[in-house]
Amino acid sequence: MTFEYAPAPESRAIVNIKLKYGHFINGSFVAGKKHFPTLNPATEEVLSHIALGATSDVDKAVAAAQKAYTKTWSKLSGKERGKYLYRIARILQERAREFAVLETLDNGKPIRETRDIDIPLVAAHFFYHAGWADKLDYAGLGHSPKAYGVAGQIIPWNFPLLMLAWKVAPALATGNTVVLKPAETTSLTALLFAEVCQQAELPDGVVNIVTGDGSTGAAIVNHPGIHKIAFTGSTEVGKKIARAIASTDKKATLELGGKGANIVFDDAPIDETVEGIVNGIFFNQGHVCCAGSRLILQESIADEVIEKLKVRMSKIRVGDPLDKNTDLGAINSKEQLVKIKELSAIGDAEGAERWSPQCHLSSKGFWFAPTIFTGVTQAHRIAQEEIFGPVLSILTFRTPQEAIDKANNTPFGLSAGIWSEKGSRIFWASQQLKAGVIWANTFNKFDPASPFGGYKESGWGREGGKHGLSAYLKNGKETGAK
Ligand code: ADP
Repeated sequence: MTFEYAPAPESRAIVNIKLKYGHFINGSFVAGKKHFPTLNPATEEVLSHIALGATSDVDKAVAAAQKAYTKTWSKLSGKERGKYLYRIARILQERAREFAVLETLDNGKPIRETRDIDIPLVAAHFFYHAGWADKLDYAGLGHSPKAYGVAGQIIPWNFPLLMLAWKVAPALATGNTVVLKPAETTSLTALLFAEVCQQAELPDGVVNIVTGDGSTGAAIVNHPGIHKIAFTGSTEVGKKIARAIASTDKKATLELGGKGANIVFDDAPIDETVEGIVNGIFFNQGHVCCAGSRLILQESIADEVIEKLKVRMSKIRVGDPLDKNTDLGAINSKEQLVKIKELSAIGDAEGAERWSPQCHLSSKGFWFAPTIFTGVTQAHRIAQEEIFGPVLSILTFRTPQEAIDKANNTPFGLSAGIWSEKGSRIFWASQQLKAGVIWANTFNKFDPASPFGGYKESGWGREGGKHGLSAYLKNGKETGAK
């Protein structure tokens, strides 16, 4: 006998979305000139209108950030800066439900994830970096480490508030001020964060938020008053940024795409591994740069794993992101849905075999069923290119060395997973893999103390932990960043 789930929607009454937003510059909201709509991707409802930042808005934000740096922020002790970060962290915790609901409405990800993963991690990032602010002199970051001044930060739509926290918390802890641009489809939680800055009485101009599109991002990258850039997004835009700053003395960290290998050896505990595979690719609709989007299975257990994976996938609940029982929410935008459909069609055309469980997808909004492709070879585009959706490419191997060769055979190197009961095998494999983050018998685990970043086309530098701090300090010792 099976029980049906009753709907369990989280109330949206807690959020108060304005009809229209401006930019947050020098501690106040200032009106924008042009606006564009931001949608709830689950329903296509227009939630609000977001200002399209022009070069003149970026100029004002940078001027405010420069002034705040020289007049206030650089004069405060680390201990004082830390107090502001603690205050922000506590307010984020107090307003966690409001942020979780707003993020789910704007992004399409399930409330279960925003409530239990995104927002708690956001607060954790501010708490963690608050603790560092007065200890920089004693952390092996060089003698009396100095901030750059104004940091320009550009973030993507997959973890809107979490990526803001990854950028803003270390920048403020190290004494930099900030001009940040959220992604065009997901600006609402960044604008609510601006209210938190006001509530925390953060000095004016320390955090400035300019909304807009790629042209706004480019204006930040090219601004002469910005000395440090932190970007998370596609490899394509990352390369544009690298070219734009190549002949300048601007420093940059770039966190770009990935095609993470999740390698399963024949001694892995199969049931736990299946949970890990599902978490690796279907968490956040697969809109995860470090997703385990290539499953590399030892041939002798491949049939059993795929069979169990299909049974498990049939239980994934796709639907209303605000429903507390939903596992897989909406695709963030129409454009992204088109990309996922295109690459999946290429998988079909190249001869891989597609499978999805039966599931009802609403005709309103942007939806894609959890999908696996079997019979994938290394030459297939779905084994090489980032799909950035709930689509898993499955390959097989016979010897451990073949698994490593296949795992490393992409232009990326962000994440990997190893499933095995043998510690020696895990250590051996993790030493061979060219990936910035390697999980063993788990996947998609994040912690502010743990540095995150990639090899090859997955980017430059590290974010999080002590490595992430050094990227915001002039004499920081980080390797890999420009
Ligand atoms: P994704 O693949 O995550 O959609 P993008 O790389 O397209 O990511 O976008 C990530 C962020 O970069 C967004 O905030 C976007 O507006 C911004 N962006 C896009 N083009 C540029 C550019 N040429 N210079 C700087 N930022 C850009």
